[in-house]
Amino acid sequence: MLSSAQKIIIKAALGVGLDNVSISRLIEPKAIHEVNFPVKMDNGEIKLFKGYRVQHNNNLGPFKGGIRFHPNVSHDEVQALATLMSIKCAVAGIPYGGGKGGVVVDPKKLSETELERLSRAYVNAIANCIGPEVDVPAPDVNTNSKIMEWMVEEYVKNHKSQITNDKTKSNYLRATFTGKPVDKGGTLGRTEATGRGGVIILSRLIGTKLNKKLKIKDKKLTVAVQGFGNVGYYFAKIAVEDGFKVVAVSDSHGGVFVDDGLSPHLTLNCKKEKGSVSGCYCRGSVCDLKFGKSISNEELLELPVDVLVPAALENAINRDNMKKIKAKIIIEMANGPVSEEAYEYLVKNGKIIVPDVLANSGGVSVSYLEWYQNMNDEVWTEQKVNGRLEEIMQKAFDAIWSKSVAKKIPLKQAAFEVAIERIIKKW
Ligand code: NAD
Repeated sequence: MLSSAQKIIIKAALGVGLDNVSISRLIEPKAIHEVNFPVKMDNGEIKLFKGYRVQHNNNLGPFKGGIRFHPNVSHDEVQALATLMSIKCAVAGIPYGGGKGGVVVDPKKLSETELERLSRAYVNAIANCIGPEVDVPAPDVNTNSKIMEWMVEEYVKNHKSQITNDKTKSNYLRATFTGKPVDKGGTLGRTEATGRGGVIILSRLIGTKLNKKLKIKDKKLTVAVQGFGNVGYYFAKIAVEDGFKVVAVSDSHGGVFVDDGLSPHLTLNCKKEKGSVSGCYCRGSVCDLKFGKSISNEELLELPVDVLVPAALENAINRDNMKKIKAKIIIEMANGPVSEEAYEYLVKNGKIIVPDVLANSGGVSVSYLEWYQNMNDEVWTEQKVNGRLEEIMQKAFDAIWSKSVAKKIPLKQAAFEVAIERIIKKW
């Protein structure tokens, strides 16, 4: 993962004419913090855990990136993710650099009280290297708003002496973390932001001259979405609200196909009832598969739709299925859903692939809006957040689209070149 992130940065850096020293400065992180910290288990035993915080680049603003709890967390993985965060924030045009954190732990094996003690202990271990103007963590794999609440509480408790009685700074320390619960300094609109951002990008893409080349006449494009979690569900829901026809969705158990378009909202209700979307198709109050067709995850990826949206896993599109992909447009909503080999093959065959660093940057963009509200002691309506998100995403898309057209390069290469140009401008 690290070498593939670095490879694409080097390719883009050469594309904008960077010398070797500058390329090294882009590749190497500014700091790598490795911490070992003790946590008391429920049975009284003390266990030592290993965690990381990698701070890749802060030319454009504070380091920014999530914290993941997973047994496979490693130095290399966290460094790769921090590197990609620098690119993603620069692509989105928000004043952040890139960072990432992680703890080597299987959270599913911990009780809730153990998870809370671990979260608080990790924050204390990295407390000296984070802060609202230094490094701003957020949720990632296996971490959520509840965990952010524990972390922010712990951080504020230990840094209270830093704030004065100035009322306008009451949320200042809370700005150290984003993805907080709304009543604890979080923002409205964050839950939907990644999916919403992806739909804004798709609409912008359809509005370009590209639609002539692809023989796309209107918005009634057919869309298939792999993954029906936070990102996949909101992408599907907002796409339907915006006039697209979502014909298939899936989760880890399989999917459903409905020729004349499905309702993501009703499908979600049915999934909650039955445990999976496979076999769920609802019309009005009736949920019965006779209206649609059950399909496997593999079949979903190979459907003859206009737009394919992998929103679940890394490498979902790979050498085994790349030749069977029929969609003209792929929106990478998951991180790295198209393998390197599949990417080269598909682009060579005329597919338009919107890279993850652009397509799913709506999440970090609204995290920035949360931070901005905390720093300025403001609370925005959801409508205001969504309006700002739209401006950010459209501006980000337009810069990358223009570069791609002007240099006749794929969107991914263009996105990395735009990001690198923005980062090096601040050296
Ligand atoms: P999630 O856990 O809420 O949902 C993941 C979904 O994928 C679930 O519906 C799960 O059933 C499904 N899934 C798992 N294995 C599958 C398989 N083999 N085939 C089909 N579906 C499968 O996660 P999420 O927050 O929606 O994140 C999805 C992806 O988007 C991840 O790659 C994540 O890193 C990326 N991402 C998320 C955000 C965000 O704000 N949540 C932001 C940027 C990127």
